[in-house]
Formats: sequence, structure tokens, C-alpha cells
Amino acid sequence: MTCLSKIQLLSHPLFDSHKVQVWVKRDDSIHAIISGNKWRKLKFNLAHLKQQSGIKGALSFGGSYSNHIHAFAFACFQQGIPCIGVIRGEADYANNFTLTWAQYWGMKLHFVDRKTYRRRHDADFIAELQAQFPNYFIIPEGGSNELAIPGVAEVMSELKQQTQFDTLMTPVGSGGTLAGLITGDKENYDIEHKLLGIAVLKGADYLIDEISGLLPSAIQQHRNWQVLTNFHRGGYAKFSHQDAQRIMEFNQTTGVDFEPVYSGKMVLALLDLLEQGYFTKGERIVLLHTGGMQGLGGMIERDMLNAEDWPAPQRIAKGTMLTTDF
Ligand SMILES: *Cc1c(COP(=O)(O)O)cnc(C)c1O
Repeated sequence: MTCLSKIQLLSHPLFDSHKVQVWVKRDDSIHAIISGNKWRKLKFNLAHLKQQSGIKGALSFGGSYSNHIHAFAFACFQQGIPCIGVIRGEADYANNFTLTWAQYWGMKLHFVDRKTYRRRHDADFIAELQAQFPNYFIIPEGGSNELAIPGVAEVMSELKQQTQFDTLMTPVGSGGTLAGLITGDKENYDIEHKLLGIAVLKGADYLIDEISGLLPSAIQQHRNWQVLTNFHRGGYAKFSHQDAQRIMEFNQTTGVDFEPVYSGKMVLALLDLLEQGYFTKGERIVLLHTGGMQGLGGMIERDMLNAEDWPAPQRIAKGTMLTTDF
């Protein structure tokens, strides 16, 4: 099996002083647009819907700066699948960085207010949407469903060919990625690794049940994984100036770019945990870089970050040709 992404050994003075080895699995580099875990989660969803007869398109959910919506729009464009994004918030978001691209690739936007958006997992709301958009295959927010699991599990079969390790860290949003990693760990290894999820949102304890619910029943009792819920830095997409500065310094030291909403929070957790003496001497840690660099576009647009300090993603230039070659 060929590996979709490479791994890279990182150097940082803290890794030397704490005698740990840290690799990063570069899922951010899988594809320029459909990056990271979204590529992994969409893979079997899109394959499945293409096999169904009578399916007209795909529908999914996200916030107005969502990495999933961005990746989903491009993947559908590339594969010729009509797609709809159910977006939380008002229609004026349609001109923001993320949604401009999504529409450019042909996604139709369906805005709902925050109260309605909260019903995104409710069966009655799904049924309403299905009636409104008949024959559209509905994929939950973040692409996190049962079909996402085997795609993410492939990270583990790749890692098996790439390095030995003790601990794997990943950022956690909806939990689909961590569930896929747990499943892949069980499928590929006799030994159990320590799988450490860093929740990027506040009050994320409910995620533990969600993740268990996504696991195949045979491994639901396994507890080689953990979600650390104290590293959210104030909540989803929240971070201090100092947090952003620390991520930037880490990026400069290691030569790999992380962003402050997901992978950067994992980095901050790693640095804090190292300082707390959490890891043992000689521990081999792999960080999963889940991608999401497009999110920087929206943060720069909202002046949450300086364009000069971060790898600003490309805006749509006038006259840009519609192409699948990225
Ligand atoms: C969506 C996303 C996550 C969260 O993944 P879940 O499967 O929802 O837990 C992590 N990192 C990035 C960059 C993402 O875009």
C-alpha cells in the first residue's frame, strides 16, 4: 500500500531536553484543497454515494469558515457530484473566504439560523432536509459518520510502514478522526498505542460518548485512548495573542506550519504536557497534522491574524480558471 502522506521527524529544543522523539504525519499535504482528515473522511462517503442508484448529489453541514465545507465542495466538484452546504449563520457570510471558494466550485449554500443549525443531528430535521432535497446523500457535519472510519483508519496502516511509535496525538472536533484512528490501531497492531485526542472546543466531555458510538462494537470497551478537554484555550476558534505567538514560534523552529484552530492547539497541548512532565523519557510521539490551512484565510480576513506571519491561503483572483488541477 502506498502512503498518502509522509512522516517527518521534528527538532525542537524541548524535545531534546525532555528526551522524546516527535514525528508529524503530514496529512495536511495530501491535497492542496481536500486536505488532511477531511480527505480521509470523505473518501468512502463519496465512493458509497456514487454506487447508490438514484442519488442526485450530496449535502453536508458546517459553519461559515468550515474546513469540511471547503474540502467537501472541492471534492464534489472534482468528482462531478452536485452539492449543497447547510451553513450556520446569515447569508452575508456567502462572501467570506471559505464560502466564496465553495460556491466557486459549484456548491449551493443553504443558510440556517443558529437555533435551526443546532438540530443538525436530529432525525426530524434530517427528514425535513431530505424532503426538501430529495435524492441527496446526507453527510453529517465534519463528515464524521461510520463511512469516515475506514478512511481515517488508513492512517494507521500507513504509519505501520513508516515508523514505530508509542503515542499518537490528534486534534478533536467532532471525534470522527479519533474514532477512525482507534479503529485503525486495533486493525493493524497487536500492541496498543496510546491515542491522545486534544479537544479544540470547550465542554467537550460529551465527545467521549460520541467517539465510543462511532467505534465498531467489538472495540467499544477499549480504553487505550483519551480525550484531553483542558487545552481548548477558551473555546472553538478562540486563542490568545500569546497562543498564536507560541504556535508561530513552533512553526519557525520546526519548519512545519500549524494553524491555531486545530493542529496548533495540539501543538500547544504537546508543549504544555512536555513542561508538565507528562511524557516518559524515550517516548516516541506522532502528531497527526490534520490540515485545515484554508481556515487561515478567514482568520486573516477577520483580522484575527496577520497575513505576514502565516502562510496566507490564496484568494480567488479575478479571472481565475475553474480547474481540478490543484
Ligand atoms: C475538522 C478538523 C478536525 C477535527 O476532526 P474531527 O474528526 O471532527 O474530530 C481536526 N483538524 C482539522 C484541521 C480539521 O479541519
